[in-house]
Amino acid sequence: MDSCCKPSPNPDSRPFPPPIDCLMFDLDDTLYSTGSGIADSLRKNIEDFLVERCGIAAEKASALRAELFKTYGSSLVGLRALGYDVDADDYHSIVHGRLPYHLIKPDPQLRKLLRHISQRKIIFTNSDRIHATRVLKRLGMEDCFDQVVCFETMNPNLSNRSSLDVSPVILKPSPEAIRIAIRETHVDPHRTLFLDDNVRNVASGKAAGLRTVLVGKTGKTKEADYSLEAMINLPRVVPEIWANSTDREGRVRSEETQMDTIPTAATLVGA
Ligand SMILES: [Mg+2]
Repeated sequence: MDSCCKPSPNPDSRPFPPPIDCLMFDLDDTLYSTGSGIADSLRKNIEDFLVERCGIAAEKASALRAELFKTYGSSLVGLRALGYDVDADDYHSIVHGRLPYHLIKPDPQLRKLLRHISQRKIIFTNSDRIHATRVLKRLGMEDCFDQVVCFETMNPNLSNRSSLDVSPVILKPSPEAIRIAIRETHVDPHRTLFLDDNVRNVASGKAAGLRTVLVGKTGKTKEADYSLEAMINLPRVVPEIWANSTDREGRVRSEETQMDTIPTAATLVGA
């Protein structure tokens, strides 16, 4: 069940939170579910990479993939940390390049909701830019975001280079990844809502001062300011997104007027 922050014992003494002027969205399993076959393909592609490029025995690939994710948060980060001379572009060409993108369907309901958010909207994903672009296009949301922070943003010197002596791969949940995202987007973390399905990413975001939403989970972690079972419930769980903000032309929009026009899960059914 979606949930908000627990109210403090004396709500009158609670400091009024600053308005939200930017929303930073993770991509995979936040804006869409990979459960439709994408996640299975992703796992298989990583295991194929381990076999084809790293010489891992096929029967050991699944266990290694799981261990790399558990320990390092990413197979690519883990492989390089273990000393494998992995080329990032080669990795992405297999792991993402072989995905069945046709399984990702347009989401007009979420698109409509995003279009009703007047603040800056940023994608913050560990995936490479080609993957992010293809997914957003499949979802019908390629024009819904102002900026994409992705693998290449966090690792500008790694693309087309395979030498292990360059900087290690930086990805969420690394604190450095969060710092890069904040720096590259020039956002005020205290006024930025960071939405991600990964508990560790949410914890890193919170530590950096972002306001956090754990997406796709029924429970809330202590680092999450909100939890959201489905993105479409965002207006109900974080209504302050629409409170006293201005539209893209700088006109102040009243909360009442905006709330009347925000698509909700109920109004979007069959839209
Ligand atoms: Mg995700």
